[in-house]
Amino acid sequence: MRAHITNTGPVLASPRCDANTRCAGACRSPSVHSKKRCRMHGGAQGSGAPRSNQNARKHGLFTGDAIAERRQIQVVLSEARKLLEEMKKRKLVQYQPKV
Ligand SMILES: [Zn+2]
Repeated sequence: MRAHITNTGPVLASPRCDANTRCAGACRSPSVHSKKRCRMHGGAQGSGAPRSNQNARKHGLFTGDAIAERRQIQVVLSEARKLLEEMKKRKLVQYQPKV
């Protein structure tokens, strides 16, 4: 009879750190709760950038809002081009764009 309960299933099923180690391969230590890294590879409490960190922002060209705005503009331009092509086919407009 064992004197110690060895239920290691939940521990083994926990998410693992996938940081690369110096001697190749992944770390495989248990990751810190709600983080992808273990305590030794950047998962420790207080480490990492705060949420919505603006420290590295330079111009905002690649923010989600800017990208969404550009996509919306492209959709409007595409519809306008289609409309112009349709009008040209029907001879409603004589406009010839300069190439
Ligand atoms: Zn690790």
